[in-house]
Amino acid sequence: MDNEFRCGYITIVGRPNVGKSTLLNSLLDQKISITSRKPQTTRWHILGIKSEKNHQAIYVDTPGLLDNKNNALTRHMRKEVLNSLDRVDVVVFVIESLIWTKEDEFVLDLLGKQQTPVILVINKIDKIKNKDKLLPFMEMLSKTGKFTDVIPMSASKKINMQELERSVLSRLPRAAAEYPEDQLTDRNERFYAGEFIREKLMRQLGDEIPYRMAVTVEEFRLKNNLLHIDAVIWVEKEGQKRIIIGKDGIGLKKAGTSARKDMEVMFGHRVHLQTRVKVKKKWTDDMKAVKQFGYIN
Ligand code: GDP
Ligand code: MG
Repeated sequence: MDNEFRCGYITIVGRPNVGKSTLLNSLLDQKISITSRKPQTTRWHILGIKSEKNHQAIYVDTPGLLDNKNNALTRHMRKEVLNSLDRVDVVVFVIESLIWTKEDEFVLDLLGKQQTPVILVINKIDKIKNKDKLLPFMEMLSKTGKFTDVIPMSASKKINMQELERSVLSRLPRAAAEYPEDQLTDRNERFYAGEFIREKLMRQLGDEIPYRMAVTVEEFRLKNNLLHIDAVIWVEKEGQKRIIIGKDGIGLKKAGTSARKDMEVMFGHRVHLQTRVKVKKKWTDDMKAVKQFGYIN
């Protein structure tokens, strides 16, 4: 590569749970995007901006693409992905170990409509027991002719990260930086306060509630060197509220403590966190509520 400055957008796509957000965090060496084993952990597109001497790579993490669920919230999520594919220089398409599913096929079909180069990342190779199967799997996917590169890696164990970065950088256009070099993301601290709470609850809760849960931050105020944060956790039913709060309030307390620790690391201040749980019936089906909870600008 030459010395001319390069800058461009790289969208990370794939079905839920393959490790897209983990990949973004590993690339940036920071927690930019929350992660969990549940679909819908990522509900917005989130930028992770990596600036170095000769380039600025603007990564875009996106919600997982699914073809079946259909309500106001999932329609918004799908739009987030499609919009982020609009003016992008490179697509990083993530799949998981030796698995190729109907949902992966669905994502690939969507990408087929674009001219943008697609790098296929086979993530979670640390989970592959029979390594002999990796090469034939990679060859099979290379042969489809749909990918400019096929890279096996592990986002959580940081295996082969440089190879991915090299491949990405070589495809960025020559352009000036779009963001100041010390800016890491397009999201503010208030946003992260809500996201960290949602992450802890997503990880803690059973299967159904996470899709019915949203977090809004009502107050975010620095006073006497202490950040006062007041958050509301929204669910759709009284029963869900009881589950989140837990016996003697233990569930909510545990999530709050853990979220507060993440906030203190990111914000560099001590945090006083207050959380409440409120019910808003069928909000995931209600475009107005989806908007009100910050999912649409
Ligand atoms: P996303 O829905 O695609 O954004 O996936 P996440 O980044 O939220 O990750 C989903 C789950 O996969 C989390 O529990 C991660 O810890 C896990 N994970 C991500 N990358 C790897 C990896 O390289 N190896 C293993 N073993 N687990 C991973
Ligand atoms: Mg994610």
